[in-house]
Amino acid sequence: MTLRWTLRAQLLAWMGLCAAVLAVVFAGLIWREQQSFVGLRGTGDALVERLVREGMEQRGAALAVQLARAVGNPLYYLDFDRIGESAGQVQAQADVVEVLVADADGLLVNDGRGDLAGFGRPMPPLAPGSDRAGAVPGGGEATLHWSGRILHVDVPVRLGNQRIGAVRVVMAVATEGSVAMWGRTVDHALRETQRAHVLWLLGGMVLISLLGVVGSWLVGRNVLAPLGQLGRAAAAVEAGRYTEARGLRAGPDEIGDLARSFARMADAVGRHEREVRRLAYTDPLTGLGNRLALSESLESRLLTLQASSGELALLFIDLDDIKRVNDTLGHPVGDEVLVDVASRLAAVCGELAPEGTELARFGGDEFVVLLVGHGVRERVPPLATAILDAVRRPLPTRDRDLVVSASIGVTVFPDDAASAAQMVKNADMAMYQAKDAGKGCFRFYSRALDEEVERRVRLEHDLRGAWERGEMGLAFQPVYDLTQGRPVGAEALLRWRHPELGLVPPSAFIGIAEESGQVEGIGERVLRDAMRAAAAWTSLPGTPLPFVAINVSPRQLLRGDLHDVVERALADSGLSPQRLHLELTETAILRDEAQAIAVFTRLRALGVGVWLDDFGTGFSGLSHLRRVPVDGVKIDRSFITDLLRDPNDLALTTGVIAMAHSLGVTVVAEGIENQGQHDLLRERGCPLGQGFHMSRPLGPADIARLFG
Ligand code: C2E
Ligand code: MG
Ligand code: MG
Repeated sequence: MTLRWTLRAQLLAWMGLCAAVLAVVFAGLIWREQQSFVGLRGTGDALVERLVREGMEQRGAALAVQLARAVGNPLYYLDFDRIGESAGQVQAQADVVEVLVADADGLLVNDGRGDLAGFGRPMPPLAPGSDRAGAVPGGGEATLHWSGRILHVDVPVRLGNQRIGAVRVVMAVATEGSVAMWGRTVDHALRETQRAHVLWLLGGMVLISLLGVVGSWLVGRNVLAPLGQLGRAAAAVEAGRYTEARGLRAGPDEIGDLARSFARMADAVGRHEREVRRLAYTDPLTGLGNRLALSESLESRLLTLQASSGELALLFIDLDDIKRVNDTLGHPVGDEVLVDVASRLAAVCGELAPEGTELARFGGDEFVVLLVGHGVRERVPPLATAILDAVRRPLPTRDRDLVVSASIGVTVFPDDAASAAQMVKNADMAMYQAKDAGKGCFRFYSRALDEEVERRVRLEHDLRGAWERGEMGLAFQPVYDLTQGRPVGAEALLRWRHPELGLVPPSAFIGIAEESGQVEGIGERVLRDAMRAAAAWTSLPGTPLPFVAINVSPRQLLRGDLHDVVERALADSGLSPQRLHLELTETAILRDEAQAIAVFTRLRALGVGVWLDDFGTGFSGLSHLRRVPVDGVKIDRSFITDLLRDPNDLALTTGVIAMAHSLGVTVVAEGIENQGQHDLLRERGCPLGQGFHMSRPLGPADIARLFG
């Protein structure tokens, strides 16, 4: 357990400190008091001693004077009996030690004792001490002499003016008793006072301790306990248990206010988090769980299944034609389709496997269904078939009924994979297998068949940065004037030399580049490179400079900045716009005809030519040619190949040429592989042609030589 400097500990320490300071102050006071008692007692002792001595001096003097008077006549008449009588009376006093009576010569006549042992001896001299003449009440003269605690009072005995002797009264001071009594009294008073003070001190300490305990209890109950509760509630909120803050006890004080505010805040945070979670885990378009929700659910389901040895099938559903719908009818219609498909999928899942399924939108046109339980491999085919049928039913959109299809890849846990990521990857591969198998069907993941898909995935990966790594370049296939038989321009064709796979044909990667969104970046580079190369080409004197035809992908057109990109590249390369042709496929027009017309118009205003590539393969037919402003069409190779054998192809080709003439646009025939095709096309009035018969695509150096 770690010790913490808690508020409670701080409070207790503070109170302990206060009590200690108080105890020290009290002890100091008591000590001071004792000191003053000691001083007082010393002064008192001296005072008592003085008072006692003064009293004794007066008494001694009075006794001595009285004795001197009493022995005056007897001394004169040498009446020793009377002298002895008087001296005996004085001697009888309790505090009188000795009485001496001497004659005029200082010889003792009485020493207060019965046997008069000292008679006739001289009066003993006074021991060293302090002498002073005492004022004797009632007159008379006396010499007071203190020797220690013994008082000698000498008084001369006079008769008239004659000094006839002297008396001495010796007294012992009995001050000890008085001083001791006084000391006892003071000591007693001191002890009493001290006891009282100690009692006060103890009482004070007990009171302070009691107050402290009560205070601590109150602080503990009203401050610390609620704070502790708040702390625990905060920890609960931090851990995501927002409702626990509602149980906070809240009094009517400031801490209660704090607790109430905290509970409200926790509620708000909880609501906010729920909302954030909802937003984070829900696909806004379809209202289904999104990719994040699916990943989490899949992870946790796999964990549970690992423990319970259950099975799970992951169906990866990809709509086949949604791209085309988006391209041709626009994104709002595409969205409508997605929402409709989502609700159909939900209906199918709810109908066929209401318990063990979960549906989520994984990405753009990808949905995932999880099927949990036992024997899932057998339960997948009916579910997948039902899904395919449901998707295939015509979808009513704003303008027309649409028919889309889906391809489904299926993978099963634990047979195919153990992790969520691997499962998604497997199902994705299986989905590509379904697409390769002609779309609109489902395929189970199988290790043996995933090579092709793997290759696709790899190409997409390798494609990134291929241009920067110098793996990409351009070839140029000359376009010939069929009547004059000379090259008049060339089409730029992208080449990718993969470090391991070798030369990868555009047909193998342009589609991937389109799907993965890399075609815009690559396309812009093709434009710049091709124009820079073409700018250096020359022609025979008197003939126009050769043109360069560049293929542009529908996505480049869709981005809307094609015009600016082309204009910049023209400016950078210095190529005249009249020498540039852009080849666009029909799909680019079908996607958004209005936009295509707008872009074409702007490009043509620059002086750039716009050609329709692969003409005849799309669904637009000839009707588009009337509405869309183009400068030429390229008849697709597939028509030229069978030109000599297939009358339909010949008819179409002839028709296209005739129509192009009537519309004032030029025609290029692609894929001329032999003299027969060449001659027939020339005969039918086709002005331009391109094909292996005339020239294969050439490297930049060869084409530069051709136009050198
Ligand atoms: P495309 O624009 O129709 O290009 C003509 C294709 O036909 C080229 O194939 C060319 O080599 C081939 N070809 C030409 N004459 C003959 C012939 O007599 N016989 C045969 N069998 N084939 C012939 P490539 O270079 O493989 O390009 C295929 C397609 O890739 C192109 O068709 C074009 O749609 C696309 N592509 C090529 N380069 C680019 C590019 O830079 N950007 C974009 N977006 N697409 C490109
Ligand atoms: Mg082309
Ligand atoms: Mg073509």
